[in-house]
Amino acid sequence: MHYIHHKSSKQSAKNSMVKNIALMICTCIIIASFLSAAFILTRANHEHDHEGPNGTCATCIHLASTENILRQVSIAIITSVFAFVPYVFFCMALTFQ
Ligand SMILES: [Zn+2]
Repeated sequence: MHYIHHKSSKQSAKNSMVKNIALMICTCIIIASFLSAAFILTRANHEHDHEGPNGTCATCIHLASTENILRQVSIAIITSVFAFVPYVFFCMALTFQ
């Protein structure tokens, strides 16, 4: 009896840890995408410098890589939303039968 109780409390501690990690990852993704969007918006009308490799504009290279990150993040978010929404509907359908 004691063993079972101990095991279940350990399990719930593990579950809350997984939840916290998921929450932290979500927060990081949201912050990263906001910062990327802010960076792109603030640098959209920048003056081109020639500090990059082969005389290219360093800011343009940063903008391109930021846009790439933002695109990948949004693809990840859209994919998880599309995976999550049918799951929620499925659970609701089971609940309200
Ligand atoms: Zn530029």
